[in-house]
Amino acid sequence: MPRRPLLAGNWKMHLTISEAKKLASSIAQSAADVQDRDVMISPPFTALAAVAETLSDTNIILAGQNASWAAQGAFTGDISPLMLKDAGCSMAILGHSERRHIFGESNDMINKRVQSCLSTDLVPILCIGETLEEREAENTFRVLDKQVRLGLKDVSLKTGNEIIVAYEPVWAIGTGKTASADQAQEVHAFVRNLLEDIFEKNIATEIRILYGGSVNAENVDVLMAQKDVDGALVGGAALKTESFDRIIHFQS
Ligand code: PEP
Repeated sequence: MPRRPLLAGNWKMHLTISEAKKLASSIAQSAADVQDRDVMISPPFTALAAVAETLSDTNIILAGQNASWAAQGAFTGDISPLMLKDAGCSMAILGHSERRHIFGESNDMINKRVQSCLSTDLVPILCIGETLEEREAENTFRVLDKQVRLGLKDVSLKTGNEIIVAYEPVWAIGTGKTASADQAQEVHAFVRNLLEDIFEKNIATEIRILYGGSVNAENVDVLMAQKDVDGALVGGAALKTESFDRIIHFQS
């Protein structure tokens, strides 16, 4: 079975509730004709429940931008997978480079978040990616190997649809620099092999690997044409209906 493309918008810390509802509703209109691919948006936590209501008659997927490893308790500032589900989410972005590099999240913490999402039936999107320094020192594959193996430590899956991986080179996020299609494919093929080493081959084959890092209306087609690029995780260009509309209507 071919992997179903996923076009995902990460809104980061942008938009009030009313702004979020407005954007969600225009994205829903844009995506109304889309049938052979999934569309996901990830608004800030405060807007999730309201956006879920706006999207109630659509098949747009809602995701949290992080998820706690605990179901509840004394974790000031955290949001549990159960709460995300309650607000209408079915996915959560985990280990985003901003969480790793600004907030110091470790592979171990991210692994615990992955496990708690899986046990709550929330699909984790495990983000991985090397910094510019690591790429220039030719450490890209070593870094990614560690992030994938530790992020997925002790994870067992029944199907590859239970989890998603997003390759987001840190040097390409919000910088306007995109990995070339060849660079993206090279890493995605590496990650696919790694997944085959961790899980059974039929499961690894099903897992979607998204590319993220300055994806826009101009470069989406060539990125999506790569064999192991199964979707895009989009920041800046997901905040404007026109560019996100073009992204969800990619042609390859
Ligand atoms: C992101 O936030 O995951 C991202 C890839 O951002 P941008 O598209 O703006 O580079």
